[in-house]
Amino acid sequence: MRACVIRATGGLDRLQLADVPLPSEPLGPRDVRIAIRAAALNHLDLHVVRGLPVEHRFPHILGADGAGVVDAVGADVRSVKPGDRVMINPGVSDYTCEYCRAGEHSLCVNYRLLGEHVAGTLCESIVLPEQNLAIIPTVTPPLSWAEAAAFSLVTLTAWRMVVTRAQLKQGETALIWGIGGGVALAALRIAKLRGARVIVTSSSEAKLAAARQLGADVTLNHRTQKVSQEVRALTGKRGADVVIESVGEATWEESLRSLGRGGRLVSCGATTGPKVAIDLRRLFWYHWSVLGSTMGNDAEYREIVRLLGSGELRPIVDRVFPLEQVRAAFERLDQGEQMGKIVVEVAQ
Ligand SMILES: [Zn+2]
Repeated sequence: MRACVIRATGGLDRLQLADVPLPSEPLGPRDVRIAIRAAALNHLDLHVVRGLPVEHRFPHILGADGAGVVDAVGADVRSVKPGDRVMINPGVSDYTCEYCRAGEHSLCVNYRLLGEHVAGTLCESIVLPEQNLAIIPTVTPPLSWAEAAAFSLVTLTAWRMVVTRAQLKQGETALIWGIGGGVALAALRIAKLRGARVIVTSSSEAKLAAARQLGADVTLNHRTQKVSQEVRALTGKRGADVVIESVGEATWEESLRSLGRGGRLVSCGATTGPKVAIDLRRLFWYHWSVLGSTMGNDAEYREIVRLLGSGELRPIVDRVFPLEQVRAAFERLDQGEQMGKIVVEVAQ
């Protein structure tokens, strides 16, 4: 089958389209084989290409997000059947460790992400446990394969950050950095669903205009405006109740300066660097919470799929590339010019 692989880590010139063996048979009792139709890119994929402290079996197939058609099921699979259109939850858990038994699958001691720790979705066929699949809900207009593929990773990540970790409430103010990225856009949607006032930032006026169309209450250009001063001014000096962070070193100090009393800062990434400082006197005096978050558990995944079905969490697709142009798709992601998800069409 055709697949987007790397045979070594490095730059985007490592990306290759290759003919690789189909997933091995036979299927385990709860395994499902899916014919992939579309796969969406995430920043995770860039990190995998450049090299993470993970041992790969080369050639390594990239891609975490995907959607496709079930084409075979193991003997004990009950939740899906051949012909079903499904979306993939990219986090694979063991369902046996103490965290899984407590329902916290993204804390699993054997947690693995598709395309990072195991073979990914940028290929024509993949075998996954049935727990990692959800039937694509019927909405009007119907979800395209690209939209279905674009949904899972960022929406699950944003849901856990905003709802489970930060517990954003109606009437509170949330600050979201870097609107345009998938997690930030999903966080905007979710924060508005919670009834919060949402301030978003970007260095692109076009992205800020698009964010206003999507419901952002206030937009700030972080290249030309001092974000923390603006947030203080917009909140009567209170500061934001919640800050959604995935940028890391470049925004950390401004994130803290924007955070009000009792504020919660949630981080799911560190694209500009992982080392930050905090003044503990401000942490305890203002009762701040600094929270980490990665992906989400099965109950959270079911909840976001339910809300997708009620038309409330439809993902935003930036552009769709054919598999032959996967390198161009990665380059667009790397340049950060997208407004929404970049999707690769694997099969028509
Ligand atoms: Zn586990």
